Amino acid sequence: MLEIIFLGTGGIMPNKERNVPSIALRYGGEVILWDAGEGTMRQLNIAKISPMKVEKIFITHFHGDHYLGLMSLLQTMTLWDRKKPLHIYGPKYTFKFVQSYLESGFFRPSFEIHVHELGEARLKFGEYEIWSFKVEHGIPALGYVFKERDRRGNFELRKIEELGLKPGPWMKELEIKGRVVVDGKEIQLEDVTGDRKKGVKVVYTGDTLPCERVRLFSENADLLIHEATYLSEEDRGESYHSTVSEACQTAKRAKVKLLALFHRAFRYTYDEYAEKAKELCSHNFIIPRDFDVLRLGDSYELSSLR
Ligand SMILES: [Zn+2]
Ligand SMILES: [Zn+2]
Repeated sequence: MLEIIFLGTGGIMPNKERNVPSIALRYGGEVILWDAGEGTMRQLNIAKISPMKVEKIFITHFHGDHYLGLMSLLQTMTLWDRKKPLHIYGPKYTFKFVQSYLESGFFRPSFEIHVHELGEARLKFGEYEIWSFKVEHGIPALGYVFKERDRRGNFELRKIEELGLKPGPWMKELEIKGRVVVDGKEIQLEDVTGDRKKGVKVVYTGDTLPCERVRLFSENADLLIHEATYLSEEDRGESYHSTVSEACQTAKRAKVKLLALFHRAFRYTYDEYAEKAKELCSHNFIIPRDFDVLRLGDSYELSSLR
């Protein structure tokens, strides 16, 4: 089960109602952060998520609303005498930004920090992978995919019996090796199990103009968290952001199950934005607020920590 905790959902300017971008992914006892805007430490605290559980932080780009919270996270981890290494991933210049951070103030981290600069990458971690892809934001900027590994189907008694076999210790061996010989018959794992279970797939665009790579990487995703800063092209002006209609179009074309409209400009109130989004988007969508939690398995469940 993957849990997505929206720590900050607004764009550019924090206000009373919403903070700047940060998304926590809780999976198998680990916490991954996608972006860490200013105030992310506070948001984690309110959500009762310990920063000590965070092992990987993925920054989409170096605009203040997406990374200025890193410093307080690193300092809090040091204050609590963290020993576990921390991995920070991001686009070109991530190393430079983290290094200049560490050189400012009287501060030395108590743990190792590993910095990884990414272009388009596919990183494998146990039960899941993180993919990065380039987006269009006028500066080096990435989007990310969380992809849970597909799992084999369950053993099916009917299939076992049809082969004239009985359940037994051979099943354990089959699970490990993928094939086994029982009573002189070679059995493949697929012969006695049901359909493979697709792992959950979640995509986060960071900030971007509408972009073909987002559609490509979002194909059949369970959730696409697409920035939709503006309600109209007129409001967008010359900025490198997307509108609700554009995010909606991408979600439709990529056949994603659920779209989350993210990074709303502070000029719109939630109600005003939600009302207009209903007119502009006919795809299945949500507009997460800070501290909303989305649990993704075979279906999804939305709740709030507020
Ligand atoms: Zn932004
Ligand atoms: Zn930006």
